[in-house]
Amino acid sequence: MKRKDTYDVIVIGGGNAGLCAALSAREAGAKVLVLERSSPEKRGGNSAFTGGGFRMVHHGTADIQAVVPDLTAEEIARTDFGQYTAEDYLDDLGRVTQYYIDPDLAEALVRASNETVRWMQGQGVRFEPRWGRQAFNVNGRFKFFGGVVVNAKGGGRGLVEYLFKAAEQRGVDVRYGVRASALARGPDGIEGVRLMAGGKEAVFGARAVVLACGGFEANREMRTRYLGPGWDMAKVRGTRFNLGDGIRMALDIGAQSYGQWSGCHAVQWERYAPDFGDIDAHGSSQRHSYPFGIVVNADGRRFVDEGADFRNYTYAKYGRIVLQQPGSFAWQVFDQQVKDLLREDYRLRGATKVQGNTLEELADRMQDVHPRQFIETVRAFNAAVKRDVPFNPNVKDGRCTTGLALDKSNWANPIEVPPFEAYSVGCGITFTFGGLKIDTSTHVLDIEDAPIPGLYAAGELVGGLYYFNYPGSAGLMGGAVFGRTAGREAAHCARQATAAAA
Ligand SMILES: Cc1cc2nc3c(=O)[nH]c(=O)nc-3n(C[C@H](O)[C@H](O)[C@H](O)COP(=O)(O)OP(=O)(O)OC[C@H]3O[C@@H](n4cnc5c(N)ncnc54)[C@H](O)[C@@H]3O)c2cc1C
Repeated sequence: MKRKDTYDVIVIGGGNAGLCAALSAREAGAKVLVLERSSPEKRGGNSAFTGGGFRMVHHGTADIQAVVPDLTAEEIARTDFGQYTAEDYLDDLGRVTQYYIDPDLAEALVRASNETVRWMQGQGVRFEPRWGRQAFNVNGRFKFFGGVVVNAKGGGRGLVEYLFKAAEQRGVDVRYGVRASALARGPDGIEGVRLMAGGKEAVFGARAVVLACGGFEANREMRTRYLGPGWDMAKVRGTRFNLGDGIRMALDIGAQSYGQWSGCHAVQWERYAPDFGDIDAHGSSQRHSYPFGIVVNADGRRFVDEGADFRNYTYAKYGRIVLQQPGSFAWQVFDQQVKDLLREDYRLRGATKVQGNTLEELADRMQDVHPRQFIETVRAFNAAVKRDVPFNPNVKDGRCTTGLALDKSNWANPIEVPPFEAYSVGCGITFTFGGLKIDTSTHVLDIEDAPIPGLYAAGELVGGLYYFNYPGSAGLMGGAVFGRTAGREAAHCARQATAAAA
């Protein structure tokens, strides 16, 4: 097959991880090509679907100002940014992954987090504090909680537009509508990428390749094979293009599989959402306000501790639990006392919502739910709430239930002020946890734990970072940290290969 142009570094995948890799390789002087499967209009992968949140180490206002230089004095005065130390971050990663996380990768992610966000800001990404999402207004002052203070302006879409703009300005080539299908490996390592474009096959030469083309969440067959029965029916929250290609290409040339292949990030998601995300769709299928209500299944029973922790430490594992319920759906139920705390997603088009002035009326309207058991569940829940503990959404308030078979640990408010509201949810898969084994320099390792010369990986397709659960906004952060490293290392590798060939 005819070999087309040769690049120092080819990056497969134009999401956050791939674009950080491309920018960093370019910064190190490499000639860089990004291969992207989507059209320019739908570019950005899952990264474009995100809220743009970055979980980074910070020590308060000065660190936030360093990445949000346009913060006003008035904004600073009305905000308590708190702090999020490296130890807090490592504790969170360890705790939510049940201490399975690869300690070296965790350390590398955490230690480089703050510096990498500053680097991105230097590349042209604009950030802002996540007021309203990660902070509630109490007596006129916003207090941040849960470790995530900043997001890219314009959310995920804003993030990828800043990154693409920077890449284009710095001379990174980008080809759209191209599906990379195989890695060309020669005696000294990676030599190029085989691809399909416009129905034709081609090979592009490269001295180094960065794989950054996502996990296998959009691949029904792989989902069912690795995550288990029922996962073929999950809705995909983001792009339809993350089919596990990068993982497969690397395994085909001897790379080592790593991490929790049966695990994924999956959330409660609009029950009747389309099969895949559409970046241009209006409305939102997110249903993240469950800590302020209760969640019941078809039997009318609660099945999770809705208030076990802040939303961003539980949401990624509750989608799987909904999938496992009879019929793979559930209803989130709220009353008027917490209505104002529901995220705006609940008010947007496309929500399967019912209302009732009495619990009986509500139960009648909650499709496929056992009405008598549901009413009994609510009555038992209401009676078990410790009403003497004040409700406070900013802290784990300890306002719990006692004596139930499954208690709610925080933010337990009796469901008693009508009209009552219920929202139907299913399971939405975000990304998969299993992937490739890399070292902290992002070399892809083979089954002997040796680096495959010229092959690097970053983003969702890296295994070993998440098990069972995931702390919100670590995905973009990890993709950026390892993407930046991968770009730099790949450029270095390409330089050495060029020198050796001269
Ligand atoms: C709805 C939603 C909300 C989220 N919110 C957040 C958040 O706020 N914060 C956070 O940290 N994380 C969030 N995440 C997770 C986050 O999206 C991922 O962790 C991160 O974006 C992955 O980045 P990536 O670059 O690895 O993959 P992607 O951004 O998905 O990029 C992969 C790219 O590779 C391309 N591709 C795939 N196969 C090929 C191929 N064979 N050839 C060429 N190109 C290919 C795809 O088209 C895609 O553009 C969210 C995810 C979703 C779906």
